[in-house]
Amino acid sequence: MTESVRPDFWDPACVEEVERLELQRARSFGVLESMVDGLVIADADGQIVYWNGRVEELLGPGLPLRVGLSATEFKRLLAARSTDPDRGLDQLSCSAIDLHRLPHLDLEMAGPQPLTLQVLQFPISGPQGEDWGCGLILRDVTEQRQMDKVKANLLAVVSHELRAPLSSIKGFATTLLRTDVDWGESARHEFLTIIDEESDRLADLVEELLDTSRLVLGQFTIEPEELEIKPLLERIVAQAQSKGSPHRFALEIVGEPAPIWADPRRLQQILHNLVDNAIKYSPEGGQITVRCQTQGDKLVISVTDQGRGIPQNEQGLLFEPFYRGRTAEGGQQTGLGLGLSLCRGYVEAHGGQIWVRSAPQQGSTFYFSLPLRPPLATPQPGEATGNATA
Ligand code: ADP
Repeated sequence: MTESVRPDFWDPACVEEVERLELQRARSFGVLESMVDGLVIADADGQIVYWNGRVEELLGPGLPLRVGLSATEFKRLLAARSTDPDRGLDQLSCSAIDLHRLPHLDLEMAGPQPLTLQVLQFPISGPQGEDWGCGLILRDVTEQRQMDKVKANLLAVVSHELRAPLSSIKGFATTLLRTDVDWGESARHEFLTIIDEESDRLADLVEELLDTSRLVLGQFTIEPEELEIKPLLERIVAQAQSKGSPHRFALEIVGEPAPIWADPRRLQQILHNLVDNAIKYSPEGGQITVRCQTQGDKLVISVTDQGRGIPQNEQGLLFEPFYRGRTAEGGQQTGLGLGLSLCRGYVEAHGGQIWVRSAPQQGSTFYFSLPLRPPLATPQPGEATGNATA
């Protein structure tokens, strides 16, 4: 900013007014420079008169911006730095007066960092509505656009997963309703079994989505009780065997585990998810081992398979909602990528932890721990804690 020059003979009122105006100007300047968006202002002749510091941060150094450069030329320079130089920036006009309908467009900027810039133009008017030029806002919308893509992708995946069982149910119900064919008792039974199983699959998918939303919103609760782990693990392994899976199953329980404090429904869901994944992601005939061992004040349960294994760089992402790894992509395995994130949510709700050990071509072991005792209630003020010295 330029320094003010104040002659000594100025009237004190005049000095005060100048100081007030200087303060006002400094404040306006501070506001414009602190904007998170880039701002470029052109006068009524279409010549640039101001741009804030954020413009250079967004567009990088070396942009030949100068006072007097025409706004049209600036737009041309901007478009030239994007991946689509013919993107019609010159179509942005100053005519719109409705803020929600201001002319704008997205530019994908070329460079080492992916950057999506929204360019927005607005008219500037004087107090009597006279044309004072226009402003151009440059807004970094990279994250927003990426989120939009993730959401659209998510909707596509969820719809696809819901549509498969729905079409099956619809198809077999329509078939059964046909009056021109007598299907016979055995075919009818087969169709109804498929409808029954597919309805369960649909209900499970909806339940998974609801649990995910409860976990994300922090509204998930468990109903724990004292539980013997051995019969529960035996049941899970027997169920997996009875489904006719072409895998071999083994159960190893070390010692006599003490009862745990857990929600039986959630514990079964964790184990079902881990065993189902072991089946899904390992070759036919491979061995799947469920182990259980007490470690200090925790019980550690694991599920090991002889599958393709998981690369190190994917392992940190497996427990994120909707993440599907390379083992799943391109394969025939269905899934929303919610199983492991739900396992993590259920385990953590019990005060436990979940983790994986795996290497490509060497199978995977998923572990989770559960505390053996219910968490101690927080002592109330004045309540005896067992270590009173009096
Ligand atoms: P989904 O099975 O529906 O894809 P999950 O949340 O259960 O979702 O698993 C996330 C990803 O973790 C899977 O897409 C898969 O790539 C990987 N994964 C899970 N379990 C195993 C396993 N036992 N072996 C190899 N990869 C696995």
